[in-house]
Amino acid sequence: MADDRAQRIRQLLADLVGFNTVSDRSNLPLIAYIETYLASFGISGRRLVDDTGQKASLWVTIGPEDTPGLVLSGHTDVVPVERQPWTGDPFTLVERGGRFYGRGTTDMKGFVAVCLAMVPEIRGAKLKMPIHLAISYDEEVGCVGVRPLLRELSRAPVKPLGCFVGEPTQMQIIIGHKGKHGVRATFRGKSCHSSLAPSGVNAVEYAAELIAEVRRRAAQLATEGERDEMYDVAHTTLLTSVAQGGTALNIVPDECMMEFEARGLGMNESKEVTDAIVAWAKAEIEPQMRKAEPSCGIDFEEILEYPALDVKPDHPLVALAKQLGGRNSHGKVSFGTEASLFVSMADIPTVVVGPGSIEQAHKPDEFVEISELSKCAGFIERLIAHCTQHGGLTAA
Ligand SMILES: [Zn+2]
Repeated sequence: MADDRAQRIRQLLADLVGFNTVSDRSNLPLIAYIETYLASFGISGRRLVDDTGQKASLWVTIGPEDTPGLVLSGHTDVVPVERQPWTGDPFTLVERGGRFYGRGTTDMKGFVAVCLAMVPEIRGAKLKMPIHLAISYDEEVGCVGVRPLLRELSRAPVKPLGCFVGEPTQMQIIIGHKGKHGVRATFRGKSCHSSLAPSGVNAVEYAAELIAEVRRRAAQLATEGERDEMYDVAHTTLLTSVAQGGTALNIVPDECMMEFEARGLGMNESKEVTDAIVAWAKAEIEPQMRKAEPSCGIDFEEILEYPALDVKPDHPLVALAKQLGGRNSHGKVSFGTEASLFVSMADIPTVVVGPGSIEQAHKPDEFVEISELSKCAGFIERLIAHCTQHGGLTAA
């Protein structure tokens, strides 16, 4: 990798890591930084600000506006660092042993830094088809921030032909990931002194019935459900991950909150699984609670959802990604990404390919191998070459 390019990547990554963009904070300073950087090459992006006015995504087009192009997509938010034993300041980039350390280096400011570092090359090329940057926010809290952008793209007169989401895959071409649907159930019971237990409605015990049912169905999915052996866990998974209720030993609890999630193989399977559980609880548990006390019951709330990604291995975008990545294989991963939303919301074929390993994501002393960033720069270099030679996904 050319020395000045490596230097540019390093500087951009250091700057990006320096912005504390944990998902509960504003990302506007970081977006302004990117805008200023792009402006130095005469490029302006389009900001989409959210309802709070505190967060924005950025849509950038380099090359002919009236031609379908290819998207490089990444999120700007990172996960929290609290209660993690970091060796140094998580928001100061440190280079050590061929690695860059810092929050977001692998997930996924490393990718964003490489995309930005390649902007001079993209800008200088005679592109037949445009290269877009889609920079989002609030990915780590349920792939939220990319959605308004995708709603716009779905209505755009000229739609991109494909998208590369740069989540860390060690530059492997990822054609599938599971979907996810999360539900919060709040059980409203009736409290009383525990010596009078039969006259109360025990919210914790009713919640326990639902927890047991979730567990029973999880076991059933594991043994009888569909399988896809390309995943580490080949079947749909289901679990209760949060349960909170009760205040004291001698009080019948009047409230219990539990959260459960499904991670499903098919496009909509996660939601089908959780919908069936909600329906079961409404039919089997809620009537018992109501019978004891009409005001008791269960409130259900969707807390998170994204569909599965399932791109056909013979899709031209997969072939192009392999060509750009210089490899012939593809895979599937169990973590979710914004890729499936590009497909489901905007009908844009998308694969996941990015530098670094998911192993280091969300952990203390998160790092990315510098060699991974060079590989990513090579991928984008070949993408630029493709877009100067061709007007579509294939060489035809
Ligand atoms: Zn990520």
